[in-house]
Amino acid sequence: MSDSVDLLVIGGGAAGFFGAISAAEKSDVPLRIRIVEKNPQVLGKVRISGGGRCNVTHGCFLPKELVDHYPRGARQLIGPFHRWAPGDTMDWFESRGVALKIEDDNRVFPVSDSSESIVECLEETARELGIEVMTHTEVETVDKAEGKPFQIRCKDGETMLADSVLLTTGGIRNPAGADIAEALGHEIVPAAPSLFTCKISDSRLDDLQGVSVQHATASVPDQKQQATGAVLITHWGLSGPAVLKVSALAARELQQVNYHFPIVINWTGTESEEEVVTALFELRTTHPKKSLRNHPQFGIPQRLWEHLVDPVLENDDEPEDLAWPHLKKSTAHQLAAHLTACRFNVDGKSMNKDEFVTCGGVELKGVDFKTMQSRVQPGLFFAGEVLDIDGVTGGFNFQAAWTTAYIAGEAIAQLSSS
Ligand SMILES: Cc1cc2nc3c(=O)[nH]c(=O)nc-3n(C[C@H](O)[C@H](O)[C@H](O)COP(=O)(O)OP(=O)(O)OC[C@H]3O[C@@H](n4cnc5c(N)ncnc54)[C@H](O)[C@@H]3O)c2cc1C
Repeated sequence: MSDSVDLLVIGGGAAGFFGAISAAEKSDVPLRIRIVEKNPQVLGKVRISGGGRCNVTHGCFLPKELVDHYPRGARQLIGPFHRWAPGDTMDWFESRGVALKIEDDNRVFPVSDSSESIVECLEETARELGIEVMTHTEVETVDKAEGKPFQIRCKDGETMLADSVLLTTGGIRNPAGADIAEALGHEIVPAAPSLFTCKISDSRLDDLQGVSVQHATASVPDQKQQATGAVLITHWGLSGPAVLKVSALAARELQQVNYHFPIVINWTGTESEEEVVTALFELRTTHPKKSLRNHPQFGIPQRLWEHLVDPVLENDDEPEDLAWPHLKKSTAHQLAAHLTACRFNVDGKSMNKDEFVTCGGVELKGVDFKTMQSRVQPGLFFAGEVLDIDGVTGGFNFQAAWTTAYIAGEAIAQLSSS
């Protein structure tokens, strides 16, 4: 006879643990809760996340501002973030002994700088609450007949029965979760990589590997998308938060053009060409003796500044040591255009090694975001990356996992107590 539980959580990642814990903590009656994980170890992605430090959430506390960081799922997450926001995540971990810190860019990490603090906290809390964890157990199918519990079949032939199922199988590059949801009547939005760096072969970037501009804007004009933040020059193109964010915003469209597209960088941040021309002219009087080439502006590092200035000076037949007072109007305009709209042709992508995310997953219309319950199959709940939700880099993906899992767990507890 099949073993029977109140709640079966499929997938032992961040969302699976947090959902199970939430259900156990919120229930008025003791629940038999089991997490099944196909790998030998649970919480694998938490361990490797944030370069081993786990960027657990982001110090952005207003739901309206927070949702701006989600290329997909922003509208649906507004309500859930009013119920469980980054502040709640931080309180939760800190109340269980995990000291957290907010770094200058608002990313939140454990003070230990080790993801193990988060893993241990989740495992310890689950243990205290009597949640069963089964590793080496891969769920293959979930069936539901009217009025009967869910019937779960695992790869090794084991079967289980459950009154509720929480599906937290992660991104759908691994199709198992999508297959289970589809078989239970859900639509699936196909997978596409999100958050990638741009492969660019352009002599203007030669020898600049490692140079970064802290405040720049990356735009993909064909998709009318742009993002502001740091831009980093790598050995094979452009990376950094602004590039990753714009890649996420246009993820689907860029997949359709097979990652061949123009990207435009405004190295000054958000200044317009006219504003830059004005600023350059002012420097003619404030820097009477200094050479243009050796006095970089707008926070642009010297080496990059030279790469941007040299072709303009050469084009206008100006000497390399041109002093600011001799800057001509035509040169200033060319330079301003170069600084504010530096266009590169992208010829492929690479995933960011620290955080890569897939967009796509369970179609959001099929899920009630007040409970994270399926609108198609009562008793089936979703949380985390299995949903067609993704955030940009900075702790937003974990926050979506904590929030959706918290809400699912609470709803499951209510359902089980009633
Ligand atoms: C290298 C890397 C670094 C990252 N760093 C950060 C970061 O610092 N901050 C941040 O916010 N986000 C980060 N992310 C994204 C973040 O890890 C995910 O958004 C998050 O883990 C999603 O949680 P989840 O529980 O939904 O899915 P997952 O963590 O992927 O967990 C799903 C689990 O389900 C299991 N599973 C799948 N199918 C089955 C099945 N059929 N049966 C049983 N088990 C199954 C999987 O083995 C897995 O353990 C990073 C991602 C990567 C890849």
